[in-house]
Amino acid sequence: MENLPSFYNDKEQNGRVAGINAESEGEFGYSAYDGPLSDNKLWNAPLCKNGKQQSPINIDAVLFGNSVINATSFVNNLQHGYKLNVLNEGATVRYTSPDQSLFNFKMIRNGVEYRLDNFHFHTPSEHRINNRHSDTEVHFVFKTDESENADVAVAAFLLNVSDEPNATFDQILVPALVPKEKDESLTIFGPSLGEFFDKNFENHNVHQYVGSLTTPECAEGLKWHVSGVVQPILLKNFLNLRSIMGFNARPVQARPDFAGQAVGASNGHKH
Ligand SMILES: [Zn+2]
Repeated sequence: MENLPSFYNDKEQNGRVAGINAESEGEFGYSAYDGPLSDNKLWNAPLCKNGKQQSPINIDAVLFGNSVINATSFVNNLQHGYKLNVLNEGATVRYTSPDQSLFNFKMIRNGVEYRLDNFHFHTPSEHRINNRHSDTEVHFVFKTDESENADVAVAAFLLNVSDEPNATFDQILVPALVPKEKDESLTIFGPSLGEFFDKNFENHNVHQYVGSLTTPECAEGLKWHVSGVVQPILLKNFLNLRSIMGFNARPVQARPDFAGQAVGASNGHKH
């Protein structure tokens, strides 16, 4: 702190000086002091720094569109009116089940069953499609079980500000339902994910690749499924989300292993 010009103290938000308090608490952020390019300890974990399968990436739609791999489908047994816990983690806003009901939404990938563990948002998007980022990205994180060794698959959607309605996210992203302060949480009714995935994931190209968590410790082997169709988000909801989370997107990672080879897209299909 002593080394910083005094005006940094005036920029303090919510009682946090970016990176300085955070590092001492073993946290990470996205600023110059605690972000992916800083000397923050967590962002400098071995895989974050030297991994060979890191995410996010820029998706070259032509390269990715040239092959079909890994049929993926979804099974929706979510009950209408199921509950979600919404937690402002500081680094993101995360939606989890207070009662494991999200486990009733499953991804079947290559015959392996994954259960929905949580979903959360990034502003702006982490993935880019043809070098275009979007205003927001949502990650639906599926796991084979709750152990540390669980296999993880993520379904990602990019969202851009639009006048078009988006029944799934308009319902939960209204400003009153998103906790504003770090560590604040709310319980809300969950959206009906089945229709959203039916409409927007299974019936069009989805870019698949093997990558990593986009946050420390950047564990690899994640099965990414990035929807090729950008979804709408209402302006007021986007502005609210951005004002709460700030910038929380890891830069795209170099993946020389993708150069010159098609790494997969699939036309998902329903079972
Ligand atoms: Zn994420």
